[in-house]
Amino acid sequence: MTRFPPERIKPALWLLVALLVAVLAGATAWQVWSLRESAVRTSEETVERFVSGAEVALNHNMLSIDLLLSGAQDMLQLQPSADVQAESRMLAVVARGNLLVSRVAVVDAQGRVRASSEPSGALQEMSLPTAFLAGVVSSAAQRLYISTPVLSFATTQQVLYFARPLAGRDGQRLAAVAEVPLAKLANVLTQGHEVSGLEIVFEQNDGRRMLALPDLPEAGPIPALRNDVPLPDRAWNMPARISGKPALVVSRQLVYPNLRVSVSLPEDQALERWEYERNMVAAAALVFCAMVLVAAAVTVAGFDRMAQVRKDIADSKALLDQALESMVSGFVLLDAQQRVVHWNRRFIELFPWMRGVIAPGMSFRKVLEQSVVHHLPAGSDAERQQWIALRLAQQREGTGAHEQVLPDGHCIHVLERATPEGGWVITYHDVTDLRRANEEIEHLAFYDPLTGLPNRRLLLDRLGQALVLSQRSGKVGALLFLDLDHFKALNDTLGHEVGDELLQAVAQRLLANVRVADTVARLGGDEFVVMLSDLSTSTQEAAALAQRIGEKILRGLSEPYVLRGHVHQGAASIGATLFGSSAQSAIELLRQADIAMYQVKARRGNALCFFDPKMQTAINDRAQLEADLRQALITQQLVLHFQPQASLQGEVVGAECLLRWQHPQRGMVPPGQFIAVAEESDLILHIGQWVLHSACSQLARWQDQPQCAHLQLSVNVSARQFRQSDFVHQVIETLQVTGARAHLLTLELTESLVLDNVEDAIDKMHQLRTKGVRFSVDDFGTGYSSLAYLTRLPLHQLKIDQSFVRNLGVRPSDDVIVQTIIGMGRNLDLEVLAEGVETEAQKALLIAHGCDLYQGYLLARPMPVADFERMLNSGAA
Ligand code: C2E
Ligand code: MG
Ligand code: MG
Repeated sequence: MTRFPPERIKPALWLLVALLVAVLAGATAWQVWSLRESAVRTSEETVERFVSGAEVALNHNMLSIDLLLSGAQDMLQLQPSADVQAESRMLAVVARGNLLVSRVAVVDAQGRVRASSEPSGALQEMSLPTAFLAGVVSSAAQRLYISTPVLSFATTQQVLYFARPLAGRDGQRLAAVAEVPLAKLANVLTQGHEVSGLEIVFEQNDGRRMLALPDLPEAGPIPALRNDVPLPDRAWNMPARISGKPALVVSRQLVYPNLRVSVSLPEDQALERWEYERNMVAAAALVFCAMVLVAAAVTVAGFDRMAQVRKDIADSKALLDQALESMVSGFVLLDAQQRVVHWNRRFIELFPWMRGVIAPGMSFRKVLEQSVVHHLPAGSDAERQQWIALRLAQQREGTGAHEQVLPDGHCIHVLERATPEGGWVITYHDVTDLRRANEEIEHLAFYDPLTGLPNRRLLLDRLGQALVLSQRSGKVGALLFLDLDHFKALNDTLGHEVGDELLQAVAQRLLANVRVADTVARLGGDEFVVMLSDLSTSTQEAAALAQRIGEKILRGLSEPYVLRGHVHQGAASIGATLFGSSAQSAIELLRQADIAMYQVKARRGNALCFFDPKMQTAINDRAQLEADLRQALITQQLVLHFQPQASLQGEVVGAECLLRWQHPQRGMVPPGQFIAVAEESDLILHIGQWVLHSACSQLARWQDQPQCAHLQLSVNVSARQFRQSDFVHQVIETLQVTGARAHLLTLELTESLVLDNVEDAIDKMHQLRTKGVRFSVDDFGTGYSSLAYLTRLPLHQLKIDQSFVRNLGVRPSDDVIVQTIIGMGRNLDLEVLAEGVETEAQKALLIAHGCDLYQGYLLARPMPVADFERMLNSGAA
């Protein structure tokens, strides 16, 4: 269709229409003309036929009248005498022979009737015009004369008189006259036909009219016939002989000179039928033309509409193409058979490997096969097939939207929608920036941009979670609110850039001083918060740990900073509060830590303070205790007490060394109050070493005393002490330095200590065992001892925990435990010692169960060495 654009078709169509109209007009004109010719011919033929008839009839009738009149002459000549009656009878006979004639008479020159054909025989007067009669009578020529129309007296009809001169017997000049009624002559002229529109005139050559049909009263004078211009036989455009209208006039000269018959057919009459036909043909032609024009107009309008529709389609397609090309999203249109129909420029930009590859009609699977290599560059064939299958399944299931991450990190959002035709519209939108922005926003929402630390919001969130977990686990945590001292001064003097650098450095040092699981957050300005979770089930211990970590942080922060060439000595104030022991909100906790921090600030900073006054007191006490203990080591306030251990038969075999602190103010402090404090710092190592050294020294001293030389000494070893890498060395060295015999030294380890690192424990115990040192498991039964590890340890003794001994004979289950331990010891060839024996009943049961040794208040309380020696001596005594 584009080869015949409407703008070329339209003129051609109009030309065709014009041609058609012209042809139609020509044909119509020709048809009208030929119809007119035919009408003219028909008229001519009709008129000529009519004239010929009239001519013949007139000639015939006039001749018969002429004969009749000339017969009257003869008849009068034959009449021997003048007998009017006879003549009249003869005339009547003659008159009867001619139907046209109403009366025949013979008149004299004066007009007197001499004889008449009237049956009555009356000689009625004739109304002959005098001049006519005179002309006839006086004429020498024997010919027929015809008068102009006259009103007959007898009949009161218009009549014509035909006359012939007649010579009477007496030589008298007479005339034979025949009276012809015009009505009868008219019949002859029309020959009985219905003559419509024809104008028939019987006239003389000089224009005098004898008979005119129709005898129109309004008819004007007929132009005289001119002798010099002969009337043509036939002529158009002549004035009609009666009405004067332009007409076809056919005129014939009759046999009697000077007479003629003229028939006129006015043109309007002649062409009346033709005009009707012409009008009909013209109307038909016009209607046809109109139809052709209307059809052409409709066709042109159709073309125009079609062109407009095509233009609209082209416009909208162009618009669509433009829209698709300017889309920020990639786009692929698939038909119902999953074949590519259309795609846009952006699609190629997003997937450049499809350039020159994608083509209309290509199956979507093929497109995926081309793409998968770029999506999974390192993928195996199987993985790629799986990717394609997954991708097609996603489309089948109409999951709608999903995202693809390209190997270069671009994130493409894929949206698939079914079209009403059963195909698919797939749009690809690059959302990389959006995703990055989202991550950025998320990060900004939860992290401090300067230090990268969690912000207040995230801290509160994590604190909320930690609170829930603490409630569940029963473990107490701590919140440290930290504010840098003199930060404002630094900011004001060295500028904000330096201030920012300091904050970043502080953040790094804080992170370095806490566990990974802890949270370090920046609230803003120079305020930081450290959240320590899961410190301990014991509030005291948790507080101590928090204190320790806080102090570590303070030490870390007080190291000098080098900021843009400036050396800055930092310090901070820390407010602390514990959480988990009671139900509190995160906000409340933060406020508590903040208040505590201000207390520190008020005391010139660079310290840590707890929010809870009691806690603070306890912490302070503990700190004081630690300081005092340190002092106690130096000033030798620590002493060893000895609690005897004996066989159940009563023989003292040795003693357990139990530490006592002779405090100048507090008096004798039991180990339960300070060992834990010592264990939190390296103080325990010094104390442990002091105890070991004291015990070995005692053993060495006893070697020279016969009652004591055999005595065993048990020394409690703390976990931290045992874990030291040179523990074995320390023990051996102590034995050597003091000169004590190794096999008299028993080291008491707890189950948990051994289980903490079994292999290390076994290794160290073996090393010492080879030297002769013995090992005992203290508080046996409270841990999770199993035979499996017991057999692997080079043990000498099991010490049944006093909690079981206390209930001997009271609680049957403890009886069973004690019996079991004793049985176990016997099986493993281990000595079993029951500690905390306070009653004879307990002792009796232990004897009954076959226990080896016992220790407890029943035998003796822990006592200074002098008392112990005295006890031995008295015992010996
Ligand atoms: P332990 O090793 O189990 O010591 C036994 C404790 O039970 C001692 O308490 C002792 O006085 C007490 N005791 C003895 N017989 C009875 C009795 O019949 N009834 C009752 N109720 N108690 C009895 P002590 O001396 O206060 O020591 C407590 C803990 O301190 C010891 O438990 C030990 O674990 C630790 N300890 C003591 N001295 C040292 C030491 O030099 N180094 C280390 N690392 N820890 C020590
Ligand atoms: Mg002990
Ligand atoms: Mg014990």
